[in-house]
Amino acid sequence: MDLSSSLKDKLLSEKKKVSESKSNSVIRTRFSKITNDKVGNGILSEKSFLIKDNIAIKNEELTCCSNILKKYVSPYSATVVDKIIQNGGLITGQTNCDEFAMGSSSEYSIFGPVKNPFNEKLVAGGSSGGSAAAIAENLSDISLGSDTGGSVRQPAAFCGIYGFKPTYGRISRYGLVSHASSFDTIGIMSKQLDDIIKTFYVISGKDNKDSTSVDYPSENFEDLSKKSLPNVVGVIKNDILDSIDQEIKECYMSLVNELKAKNIEIVEIDLPFFKHVIPTYYILTMAEASSNLSRYDGIRYGNRINGKDLNELYVDTRSKGFSDEVKRRIMTGTYVLSSGYYDAYFSKALKVRRLIQKSYHDLFKSMDSILLPTTPELPFEIGGRKKDPLKMYFADVFTVTSNLVGNPSINIPYGLSKNGLPIGLQLISNSFKEETLFNFAHSLK
Ligand code: GLN
Repeated sequence: MDLSSSLKDKLLSEKKKVSESKSNSVIRTRFSKITNDKVGNGILSEKSFLIKDNIAIKNEELTCCSNILKKYVSPYSATVVDKIIQNGGLITGQTNCDEFAMGSSSEYSIFGPVKNPFNEKLVAGGSSGGSAAAIAENLSDISLGSDTGGSVRQPAAFCGIYGFKPTYGRISRYGLVSHASSFDTIGIMSKQLDDIIKTFYVISGKDNKDSTSVDYPSENFEDLSKKSLPNVVGVIKNDILDSIDQEIKECYMSLVNELKAKNIEIVEIDLPFFKHVIPTYYILTMAEASSNLSRYDGIRYGNRINGKDLNELYVDTRSKGFSDEVKRRIMTGTYVLSSGYYDAYFSKALKVRRLIQKSYHDLFKSMDSILLPTTPELPFEIGGRKKDPLKMYFADVFTVTSNLVGNPSINIPYGLSKNGLPIGLQLISNSFKEETLFNFAHSLK
């Protein structure tokens, strides 16, 4: 494709900003390759995209920020990447993240930690921290991340941008490296809500290459981008709010009051199974991850360390290829699936997931949306949590439920703390009600 001179200027300026950026958010660029892409004409024309390093782009490295896939080159593109290019989007590079999208801080990466553009001593959130920080620094218009338990919404909150997770199955996962397959979704980040809606409009839909993608009639673009407030919104009670950062609580209450002033019916709810969502999420995702990651054996994919026999090859390849957090999850996942413990952990967690799904299904019979904080705390210090996995896991306490249930949610940038750090709030709607979510978010702008 030939680039117009204004487009050339825009890309040159983004390229310069990437080279000057200190956040370590972009790990590879491909500005010089854009003219070889078969870029179509569509609603994404002239929009630039950065893609998380766990989503495949043909002939580009796909490492998931892990040693085991270092230098691995993808032979094909994810469906979302193809659709973006067909509709005019320009793929300018790839972003840093937690290894195999496991983490809440983007510190577990062979490329080093992502730094928060608002304060370089702090994390950008994770696992799609590179995709979020890059948008905050205007390195591209839009970025893609993956959200298995909050990895798009939580870094979006930490970096002051919009971050959207779709209903499970609405966006094809073909070409997204699997973490926990029944939770994984591809999410979209931007400073502009309209750009998120346009991208969702383009990349959603049934894909024969992903059997879990859903054939759901797509809304038309105008309906998705209307402004319309919901009638009834569920909000949480003080006991939970008192346990979170008080500046986030204040932001939350200010939006609740704004909605009340607009005559929206506000219903206080008990978040179903709130105490159980973190253990349920981690038992199930670690089990799925231990199975998904068994493919990295040094034979079929990625790097190999040869040993004196096959067993030594497997052990050395996987011991040196994965870092501690990934190994912790593979081992815990294998444990909860092992014959002696399957009933006590995995099978029990599946039952709890079913109960959580049913409770939210019932809740949405009487309300259109639920409003939650996205995170219980402000961005934390780089290095501060790395050694305390349980603390890290609790960063996701408000986000994992949408992945357990499968419904869509979005982080909206809502305010700044007194130290100038971003605060995000989360809108949640029933499955396949992306329209409700976008209309709600639009009317808060
Ligand atoms: N922080 C969560 C985890 O580590 C979420 C990960 C994700 O959404 N990819 O599992």
